[in-house]
Amino acid sequence: MEIGVKEIELIVQQVIQNMDRGASPDPLKSSGGKGNLGVFELVDDAVAAAHEAQRIYVEKFQLSDRNRIINAIREVCSEQVTTLARMVWEETSYGRYEDKLIKHRLIIEKTPGPECLKTEAITGDNGLMLEEPAPFGVIGAITPVTNPTETIINNTISMLSGGNSVVFNVHPASKNCCAYCVQLLNKTIVENGGPENLVTMVKNPTMDTVGQISGNPKVRLMVGTGGMGMVNALLRSGKKVIGAGAGNPPVIVDETADIHRAAEQIYMGASFDNNILCFAEKEIFVMEQVADELIQGMKAQGAYLLDAAQMEKIRDLVLTFDGTYHANKKWVGQDAGKMLREIGVTNAGNVRLLIIDADNMNPFVSVEQLMPVLPIVRCKTLDEAIERAVAAEGGNRHTASMFSKDVNHMTKFAKKIETTIFVKNSATLAGLGYQGEGHSTMTIAGPTGEGITCATSFTRKRRCVLSDGGFRII
Ligand code: NAD
Repeated sequence: MEIGVKEIELIVQQVIQNMDRGASPDPLKSSGGKGNLGVFELVDDAVAAAHEAQRIYVEKFQLSDRNRIINAIREVCSEQVTTLARMVWEETSYGRYEDKLIKHRLIIEKTPGPECLKTEAITGDNGLMLEEPAPFGVIGAITPVTNPTETIINNTISMLSGGNSVVFNVHPASKNCCAYCVQLLNKTIVENGGPENLVTMVKNPTMDTVGQISGNPKVRLMVGTGGMGMVNALLRSGKKVIGAGAGNPPVIVDETADIHRAAEQIYMGASFDNNILCFAEKEIFVMEQVADELIQGMKAQGAYLLDAAQMEKIRDLVLTFDGTYHANKKWVGQDAGKMLREIGVTNAGNVRLLIIDADNMNPFVSVEQLMPVLPIVRCKTLDEAIERAVAAEGGNRHTASMFSKDVNHMTKFAKKIETTIFVKNSATLAGLGYQGEGHSTMTIAGPTGEGITCATSFTRKRRCVLSDGGFRII
């Protein structure tokens, strides 16, 4: 076997690191033999291993090591992207395989690494002040079934860039693809000279294991990505929490908009991965003078307009009713064409999106259904559209968008809706860097305010002061 320059460099780095570690017999190992490449039966073992790994990571590894490890994670995940996307799709049955490829690539390429950590320095007559972004330590992270491995890769890049380790509690319906991903990450980290078990998970995650992770004193920060029930449960845990909760993003299309672009972008965003993304377009409020043009434009893109009787059949199929409407889990993330076939429409072809000419009371407006079914509500005035959009968003303050050429209209809506992401004249995917500027994340922390999370979000500021006028050159 031939050994390349890169491999030789790695071997030398590992030898030097091992010499540096002195007395400890094998400090890279922190599982006590209990885990399988980061996957543990018991929460306490997963936390203990991640705790030991993090201690080694901060004591023995430098920023250049973090960079090397993060780059290797990007490389390996890129190589494995088809495997990961297929595993997620097969295990969860949600969404579309081809869109999962895009999601994985987006977060592999656009989740920032350690370069986003910024030190602040101030000098004055009294000397020097430094504030640096330091790790929390062990982070407990809850992941959703809608973006399982995407969230694991994104959180791992961000959290390890910040010097932390992480224990995942994944959604049970995605535990196999997540275990594969965690093992892949650990293997990559160790092969690139890092400690084992920087990334761990509980093999059989439950609600109880969430409580065990948040209750473990070694866990310094909880990060929850998912529905509001989970985020609120974490907020009651008494621990520091970064919460990324539900959305129900409204879109307003006004009479000044480029309607062709609006139809094209809304169709693309609302049908992407069968609308399981929390930040995808969920309901449209359109000025009545351009409503027909928008609906025609969306049909031209490929959307299927349900008539009243079909809408009722789809509603009864994909929503449940117990006094209020809820998404029927069986239909979350399923293909629009499959829904049509189920109600007897067999000649519609490969449909990606169903649209409804809806009134504002239609349950598809207010329920975050995570399905490719999009209600379009006609409005007489901008104020009416804004009022309805704010109500439909439900106070989540997550994502909204507007198609308009009138800056005052866009400003008015943005101020009223107060969402973490506000996109103008594009699919909301642009808000996370897909055909838009800025970095990406799978953890949009609206409720607790960190926003589009990155490594900085998972660090705590620490100050170091050199007093008595020292270290100045002026
Ligand atoms: P979910 O809330 O059902 O589950 C999310 C995770 O929390 C899972 O791991 C689950 O096992 C756990 N969980 C659920 N209820 C819990 C409770 N009471 N206590 C402790 N843990 C609990 O959500 P999901 O179906 O996996 O994902 C879809 C939801 O997540 C949607 O509401 C979507 O908007 C939201 N989401 C938000 C973001 C974001 O960045 N803000 C990203 C993705 C998904």
